[in-house]
Amino acid sequence: MFHRFSRLSAAVIAAALLCSCAQKEGAPLSSGDSAATLPVTEPTVVSETVTTQTEPPVTTAATESAPPETGAAETTAALGYTIDALSAKMYATDILNVREFPTTEAKVVGQLNVGDEADVVGLTSHGWYQIRYDGGAFFVKAEYLSSEKPAETEEELTIPENYYFASSDDYFFVVNKDNPLPEDYSIETSFVQGSYEMEIVAAYNCRRMIDAAAKDGIDLKVLSAYRTIKYQENLFDRNVKSRMEDDGMSYEEAYADTAVNIAPPGGSEHNAGLAVDIIDRNHWDTYTDFENTPEFAWLSENCTKYGFILRYPKGKEDITGYIYEPWHYRYVGAEYASAVMNSGLCLEEYIG
Ligand SMILES: [Zn+2]
Repeated sequence: MFHRFSRLSAAVIAAALLCSCAQKEGAPLSSGDSAATLPVTEPTVVSETVTTQTEPPVTTAATESAPPETGAAETTAALGYTIDALSAKMYATDILNVREFPTTEAKVVGQLNVGDEADVVGLTSHGWYQIRYDGGAFFVKAEYLSSEKPAETEEELTIPENYYFASSDDYFFVVNKDNPLPEDYSIETSFVQGSYEMEIVAAYNCRRMIDAAAKDGIDLKVLSAYRTIKYQENLFDRNVKSRMEDDGMSYEEAYADTAVNIAPPGGSEHNAGLAVDIIDRNHWDTYTDFENTPEFAWLSENCTKYGFILRYPKGKEDITGYIYEPWHYRYVGAEYASAVMNSGLCLEEYIG
């Protein structure tokens, strides 16, 4: 996917910000993040990915009751959906359940891991792929398969010619209220988990980090990653509007109040595609207490190996302009990450 940012208004760039984090649409919110101040109108997303706590996957295939395979487009009116035949190789973007039928109520017959290839033979009218699996035809939620094969080595990454990031050093820069993204900033993105994407090199390293954590028994859940400028604009505008309507503020008051909590478009590291918010997969409610989880301990120990830093450390609030965010990680490249973290300085101080 290719993104080029549109021209930003000077007023928006000039706006102050405190916290750059805000959730992707629909994700649960909590008080520690700026998004907590937003009106939540969309329902919480219940990810159809494996939740080992409540739903241990059955690893033996249920071949005795596999549904008939589809040939040409087939109508299953009695079931309330149709299946269009398809023939495609796709790849899992998350650990996900393979089910007997295309509903989360159906029996789990197995699971795919990130990067596993799936032989897709159909797509239902309600967003499930039918795949060949273990000798039968089963179902996975369509949003967790991608036609893009994840790069397994750095060499496999497809970097476009004349890419914005010409070298690995170029990732080492500050994005904040005083340093919004330049107007010619443009990136390619790829997935990190589920439907979340980041800039391609950051995404590749984030996937490696998540995979490495999984091997250590640590289950990292991405809560927010790349957000488009358009999304950030909507987020910002929605907040101004709700302050005017709900709190009776004037436009100027609402704007100033919003700018304290929400990063202006182009002023968030999430707009750069270089930031990821991570929590622990099994406990959505530990968002604010993430600091006390084994997941946070693992990230603190290992994130720099993959080029990430804890971007808003405790005690640096006055300099970063953001509250302490144990969940927010910024890709700066492995050459710099450990130097920054070991220095005890935040990125603004280190870059000077
Ligand atoms: Zn964040």
